[in-house]
Amino acid sequence: MPDSDDEHALTNAGLFERAQRVIPGGVNSPVRAFRSVGGSPYFVARAEGAHVWDVEGKRYTDFVQSYGAIIAGHAHPVIVEAVREAAGAGTSYGAPTEREVLLAEAICERVPSCEMVRLVSSGTEATMTAIRLARGHTGRPTIVKFAGCYHGHGDALLAESGSGVATLGLPGSAGVPESAVAETLVVPYNVVPELGDDVAAVIVEPVAANMGLVPPAPGFLEGLRKACDDAGALLIFDEVITGFRVDRGGAQALLGVTPDLSCFGKVIGGGLPIGALGGRAGVMSSLAPLGPVYQAGTLSGNPLATAAGLAALSLLDDAAYRMLCGRAEMFAQWLTQVFEDASLPAQVPVFGSLLGLYFGDAPATDYASAKGTDEALYARFFHACLDRGVALAPGAYEVLFPGLAHSKDELERVSDLVAAAAREVAGTY
Ligand SMILES: *Cc1c(COP(=O)(O)O)cnc(C)c1O
Repeated sequence: MPDSDDEHALTNAGLFERAQRVIPGGVNSPVRAFRSVGGSPYFVARAEGAHVWDVEGKRYTDFVQSYGAIIAGHAHPVIVEAVREAAGAGTSYGAPTEREVLLAEAICERVPSCEMVRLVSSGTEATMTAIRLARGHTGRPTIVKFAGCYHGHGDALLAESGSGVATLGLPGSAGVPESAVAETLVVPYNVVPELGDDVAAVIVEPVAANMGLVPPAPGFLEGLRKACDDAGALLIFDEVITGFRVDRGGAQALLGVTPDLSCFGKVIGGGLPIGALGGRAGVMSSLAPLGPVYQAGTLSGNPLATAAGLAALSLLDDAAYRMLCGRAEMFAQWLTQVFEDASLPAQVPVFGSLLGLYFGDAPATDYASAKGTDEALYARFFHACLDRGVALAPGAYEVLFPGLAHSKDELERVSDLVAAAAREVAGTY
């Protein structure tokens, strides 16, 4: 071959340069950019289990896991085979399929508060639909959300939002007119607000996972349930991250508080685009075509996404959750020790199988305290880890997603790498 491989070899920097010419910021979701940590992203060539490989052949132990869409590990053979088989039978029809029924049944069976489910194509669509449904069902205008909670990028919910909005230090988004958020009330997390009779719904991440990891204070969710009941408002749990990740029945099963509506996404698509909205039949029946609240989607209930989602759920029995949560707890203890040994002020909160990482002296309890995390320290630690082949999210407000493929041995190996990263960072702290 006259051409050397090198001449055409893809590099992260080369791809990023090309990407920036044709894609704003070089990424199709701002959380993937390295804006807040500096440097430029690695471009993934392939992934398997707990690992991703970039286009230069470097391997990383991956804690991003598609921001929580992957729980069984990358390219799990059961999921890959389900998608392959489904694809061979057609990729989208515009007519209902058996798998949509199976996935809706699987969700209802696992989450008793869901008597009916509508499948959509993303978590954003699920929350957008949930608040439209709540407004349509109650005939009231106001939505209450909590600062630091992220509910996707729909206009009405992009106020004091977590995730990438927090990472980029934005108050909200340009292009969202005041009128779009005029009926969105933003209040502090972990404080039960007083609700007027104009409130259609309170939407909350039952365990906040987009401002780092902030578990609900004792009584917070119970208080929301009561406040909603007293005010005649609906309680919406956004379980797009926590659903089918922290427990078979989501955060609501662990916390014992029952919402009227629940939003899902991420895990239930097995890595393909999906979202779902579920709840009491009396409320869900207000959705078209049964009721007056319109919602639709060309690719809703997509054959590939439902196949992947069903395959993912089939791998998640009680034993799987016990293992996931046990390992997360253990990993959190190891990391806590690592930071202690390096004399770095860090908190590693854990809830179910979710881990947070907060650089500060005390755990965050709301958005104000979450923003106290030392972002500069996170950025240095992030790169020290990445250099050693450990991929955390490139933003201080995301969580870690250890999954079924992160074996005890792998977590132990990672803990040693992270310890070295912590020592390096502490040396210049
Ligand atoms: C990711 C996320 C969403 C949005 O889901 P997309 O599929 O990215 O649209 C909504 N709510 C929460 C809690 C999320 O973490």
